Amino acid sequence: MKDKVNQLFQEQLNNWELAKNNYKALEQVKEKTLDVNGHRYKVQFNPVRIISSAAKVDPKSIQERKCFLCSENLPAEQKGISFKENYILLVNPFPIFPRHLTIPAKEHTPQLIASRFEDMLDLAQQLDDYIVFYNGPKCGASAPDHFHFQAGNKKFLPIENSKDWNNAIRIESKDKQEMLLLFRQIYNALPLQSNDTEPMLNILTWYENGTWTTCLFQRKKHRPACYFAEGDDNLLISPASVDMGGVFITPLEKDFEKIMAEDIAQILNEV
Ligand SMILES: [Zn+2]
Repeated sequence: MKDKVNQLFQEQLNNWELAKNNYKALEQVKEKTLDVNGHRYKVQFNPVRIISSAAKVDPKSIQERKCFLCSENLPAEQKGISFKENYILLVNPFPIFPRHLTIPAKEHTPQLIASRFEDMLDLAQQLDDYIVFYNGPKCGASAPDHFHFQAGNKKFLPIENSKDWNNAIRIESKDKQEMLLLFRQIYNALPLQSNDTEPMLNILTWYENGTWTTCLFQRKKHRPACYFAEGDDNLLISPASVDMGGVFITPLEKDFEKIMAEDIAQILNEV
């Protein structure tokens, strides 16, 4: 699987202009580091992410757009690798990580993790040089109507090196059945907001030396107040798993320059 994914990147970055340009641009991307509650967070100025950060995910907008994860709507240049019959691994053409995958279900079916957490563990095991992540339908997923995971290369997110990361519920095991049981217990204990289909969650999972690590972030809000604020108070930040894991994405340069540790602390607190 790892060889196939490397070949996929090679092929796509040679032959797909959009992906080639965006991965090249990522090499020049501006970053800064901030100390937030004793943890080191990176801020990345990444203009191509405006498409996700500003995505309209209300039911009406979703209904009126063509689903960009359905196979018939994928760009002509996009190639994929099958995983477990019902998923496809795709190069994400709007990357945050130097290697960034989107892994949609082949079927157009809503973003719901409960019955798919085992697939997430299997994916992490097969792609053990990646962190696999899941954004709930109201927690940063820009396609809440089409199930998908994402994955980004290791050695990028600060959370990977911390055993006591800000606000994360962290579970570890060498035994897949135990991981599934622990996940189920936590999932069942989390509150469900009215009209929601699952507890609001961001989830990150990786596999190292025979052990799975999963970090769950319980969410209260989809987007922080600064996202909607007018004028100088506005910060276009729509936090998801990557931000929770320690890399805050600012699609606008003014926000990248302006954002301080207190802003990140405030956003984490709110969401
Ligand atoms: Zn779809």
